[in-house]
Amino acid sequence: MTSTKITTTKVIAKKTKPATDQLEFGRHFTDHMFVMDYHTDKGWYDPRIVPYQAITLDPAAMVYHYGQTVFEGLKAYVTETNDVHLFRPEQNVKRLNRSNERMCIPEIDEELALRALKELVKLEKEWIPNAPGTSLYIRPFVIATEPYLGVAPSKQYKFVIILSPVGAYYKEGINPVKIAVENKYIRAIKGGTGEAKTAGNYAGSLIAQEKVSDAGYAQVLWLDGLEKKYIEEVGSMNVFFKINGEVITPALNGSILPGVTRNSVIQLLKHWNIPVKEEKIALEDIKIAYKNGSLEEAFGAGTAAVISPIGEFACEDETIVINNHQTGDLAKRLYDTLTGIQYGKIKDPFDWIVKLT
Ligand SMILES: *Cc1c(COP(=O)(O)O)cnc(C)c1O
Repeated sequence: MTSTKITTTKVIAKKTKPATDQLEFGRHFTDHMFVMDYHTDKGWYDPRIVPYQAITLDPAAMVYHYGQTVFEGLKAYVTETNDVHLFRPEQNVKRLNRSNERMCIPEIDEELALRALKELVKLEKEWIPNAPGTSLYIRPFVIATEPYLGVAPSKQYKFVIILSPVGAYYKEGINPVKIAVENKYIRAIKGGTGEAKTAGNYAGSLIAQEKVSDAGYAQVLWLDGLEKKYIEEVGSMNVFFKINGEVITPALNGSILPGVTRNSVIQLLKHWNIPVKEEKIALEDIKIAYKNGSLEEAFGAGTAAVISPIGEFACEDETIVINNHQTGDLAKRLYDTLTGIQYGKIKDPFDWIVKLT
């Protein structure tokens, strides 16, 4: 596999690029995409970069019916010296294969996936916006394409990578959001698919988000599916609390998505000698910490926002206000450090950055 060549067919006419101030998240796409096919008789074959185009599938393609699909999300950044940085892309490729395994999708050669990603980003370099906070979002995904209505793993797949220039997540500076604690719906349960980045988890979560967004909440706080007592994630981010000088995040328990940002935050905290624990966290304990004044900060962590400070949790019976709705010092320090490393403004002591050459 290591020597498998990726062929490239370039577009004849390039698209007009959107103005930087028009960029949103995931609205615009670049000129090319990567595609590779799979058939049980052949394995993965024909890795290629081609003009961005629609995918035509048989209406019986299995992804349409039973949702056998996985995705990833990471970003490419352009630095002040015009280098292109990827942030820990090997972690996304590994996680893609862990999601594949859970969803009975055949493993993808990690070296080839990484090379595909790099070659595509390199070809589309001029699509990476360079205004502060902007980046090129990379979306690898796999779909089951066999035309068959039986409930079984598909015998055919497509692995695709598309790219989308995205605007700054924080247009008016990093700001705390309000979160509603979700008491009715659950996102995932141990033994289910919560650990995998697979479409169904997100489809099933839309209703909760819809319910609270009109009331001004940015996301919901997901509780565990068994007892609805323990904290899992906020929206599609991992969640951290700072209590009495100590940082705590829910331990990976089988229903929580293991975020690359989450892992990076933990490593940074250890590097700074700030105590950090991964443990089961009861919502009740957060309420107690709030009441006794030891709850100092709360924030979400994920690729899109990097760090998203939380100003408030609305529970059924009470509202937990954090740090007077102000961004905490630790959230700010983590945000500045992670984005500083991503944009090449500060030293990367962890070898997280992969520079495209
Ligand atoms: C992708 C994702 C995250 C964050 O993962 P990162 O690798 O940090 O972007 C957290 N929770 C859910 C449910 C996710 O889908």
